[in-house]
Amino acid sequence: MLANGDSSLELDERYSRQVLYRGIGPEGQRKLTASEVAIVGCGATGSALAGLLARAGVGRIRIIDRDYVEASNLQRQSLFDEADAAESLPKAIAAARKLATFNSQIIAEPAVADLTPANIDSLLGGVPLILDGTDNFETRYLINDFAVKKSLSWIYTAAVGSYGVTLTVIPGQTACMACIFPEPPQGTFETCETAGILNSAVNLAASIAATEAIKLLVGATKQLRRTLLSFDVWWNERAEIRADNPRPECPTCGRHQFPHLAGEGRPHITLCGRNSVQIHERNRPVDLAQMSQRLMPHGTVRHNDFVLKFWHEPYEMTLFPDGRAIIKGTTDAAVARSLYARYVGS
Ligand SMILES: [Zn+2]
Repeated sequence: MLANGDSSLELDERYSRQVLYRGIGPEGQRKLTASEVAIVGCGATGSALAGLLARAGVGRIRIIDRDYVEASNLQRQSLFDEADAAESLPKAIAAARKLATFNSQIIAEPAVADLTPANIDSLLGGVPLILDGTDNFETRYLINDFAVKKSLSWIYTAAVGSYGVTLTVIPGQTACMACIFPEPPQGTFETCETAGILNSAVNLAASIAATEAIKLLVGATKQLRRTLLSFDVWWNERAEIRADNPRPECPTCGRHQFPHLAGEGRPHITLCGRNSVQIHERNRPVDLAQMSQRLMPHGTVRHNDFVLKFWHEPYEMTLFPDGRAIIKGTTDAAVARSLYARYVGS
């Protein structure tokens, strides 16, 4: 690896085509190198965002994800490979490793965690730009509350089926997510589990969001898009809703109410799609090697430094070192809780 003193040499080579682009230039590239972003959720959207920003030379990328890599991810989650899925590596770890293989000059900081009101300060504090790679509105409203409260920019990005949507939020200057949708959507809506997803829809949404991020980081604020943009790559549809002004009566950026940040009524156990239930962090550090010994008589078990998998027909439990667990094979919180209580502790 090159020492800092030699980095201009490497910079000339690696980023030469990007520096040539007049919107970036040498000054923009220096700003990218000195910048830091956080990506919350590293599935399909998060992978694409992290890949683009790492190759573009964003100096420090914090990657927060609660999940592990599975074979069904590989169709669209571009940072992962078959070996990651075979090992059930946490996505944050696998992503950081992959980024390091193509840009060793940047710092990728993985955090295997579920973003919650309790840990959001430590996970996102001090990062000036937050990118949404999540798949759920609970976390997006939490990010929106946090970003507005701390005056941090964030970029909402989502994709499902052949549809993608994105919004750049600069608190005080543009509409926030609650200006446009005061309440999280209620009831059932389509997810990647029910409607499937095209990898091209994800990559387009992430490409637009990554470009917005780069504009913000290099200070090209005039070029930012001030709309909620949605498109459908299959049906060739496109729509924009104006988002160029905060709404004075917005509960979040207008009246400064932050219920999601307060974590009011946040359940301890949540469904997380695809027939599984998550038991949130218990502040119960688990020694995975020891736990593996304990579980062996009761089913098939395997573990590495980051994750333990336990198969107990018809359930599959994935346990993380902080005590958090994802239990697959049920959507019944009581079943998941009892399995956890029986084998890990109540
Ligand atoms: Zn607002």
